[in-house]
Amino acid sequence: MTSATPARAQRDPAHVPDVDTYRIVDSAETLDDLVGELLAEPAYAIDTEFHRERTYFPRLALLQVAWSGGIALVDPFAVDIAPFGRVLQGDALAVLHAADQDLEVLDRACGAVPTRLFDTQLAAGFIGLSTPSLSSLVDRMLSRRLEKGDQLTDWTRRPLTEAQRRYAAGDVLYLLELHGLLTDRLAALGRLAWAEEECAILLRRSRLPVVPEEAWWRLKHARQLHGRERAVAQNVAAWRERRAQMLDQPTRFVLSDLALVSIAHRPPATRAELEQVRNLDARQLGNVAVSELLGAIADGLALPASAVHMPPVQRGEGVVRPAVALATAWLGERARQLEIDSAILATRADLTAFFQERPKGRLVSSWRNDLVGEPLRRLAAGDASLALEGGGTLVLEERSRRPYVAHGEPPQPSPSEAEPSTTEPSPRRAPALELD
Ligand SMILES: [Zn+2]
Repeated sequence: MTSATPARAQRDPAHVPDVDTYRIVDSAETLDDLVGELLAEPAYAIDTEFHRERTYFPRLALLQVAWSGGIALVDPFAVDIAPFGRVLQGDALAVLHAADQDLEVLDRACGAVPTRLFDTQLAAGFIGLSTPSLSSLVDRMLSRRLEKGDQLTDWTRRPLTEAQRRYAAGDVLYLLELHGLLTDRLAALGRLAWAEEECAILLRRSRLPVVPEEAWWRLKHARQLHGRERAVAQNVAAWRERRAQMLDQPTRFVLSDLALVSIAHRPPATRAELEQVRNLDARQLGNVAVSELLGAIADGLALPASAVHMPPVQRGEGVVRPAVALATAWLGERARQLEIDSAILATRADLTAFFQERPKGRLVSSWRNDLVGEPLRRLAAGDASLALEGGGTLVLEERSRRPYVAHGEPPQPSPSEAEPSTTEPSPRRAPALELD
């Protein structure tokens, strides 16, 4: 592919590249030029287009880069993009939107993830926008419209259409400008360090290896599994994960979730029994896979309960459910006041972990401790209570420890009073909800 419009070579930091001035990088030489140019930049923006419908690992179809000098569309089918790893490993800041999957794709394609990351979606959560799409963020912060892309477009086709190329370029066009605006807003709010810390966590998390023994957690019905069913599900899902990786096929191509859960409920011991499992085609699996699978089932049945990897939230969740419900209500209010996405403040898993194993976990570290950890600790200790203020606002306040007495009901002794009260019950019965 040679159709490329030369990029403007301006170095003005305020200059925003034009969506029509992208260059196509489809040879080792042009990639080399691009890498050299980017290595001199303090920041660059990246997006990737990939497919993973028919593979286990994402298949990169296009890498888009924007920097102060222009936009490049790198074609990974035409050139080995491993040399781009030098850019990622450099000191420059990489700006991405919703980077999670892109990081996985980059790691696979270049053997590296950026050294420093700024995720515009994550950062937007700290100014009160809840996981905005790129187009809504561009609309909101820059009052510009992104070209509408076709969600089902085939990025593996060649040549890419003009519309595809413009759309792909548009995905990186505004990222550096958004980074600048978001950084200013966050700095003014004193929250820049918080956002940077979260981006660093996202970056670290992207490099954590997949643990096959935890693959069963993602089953839709994982919570309904009990006892040895969990052990069988763990072993079979781990086998499925490893086989899918080896074949580079989606896990569902190896074994459907439905078949996996059926196996966990009624573990087959023989090939004949396995063939009775709904949604499972033993012939398609082949003899080797069938005996591996039967082995995984047998091992699962023999697995001691202590060897089952349990999802962190599921352990004793019931005990803390009322506390989590109360905390969730307060958290929503806190998020509104602070104008921070409540999912960034704390997830349900964070709250459950918090009430289960105080004072460990995410809520008691760093900036979260001041914003939510400490107030929740006081709530959990019984030193603070939640109340409704006029207009329905939830407030956390010092606890009075004076029991609420409905009008006409005998006063209950408060926990701090040693002896039972001798006060006569009032003869008049009043509706329980009548307030003084
Ligand atoms: Zn994109």
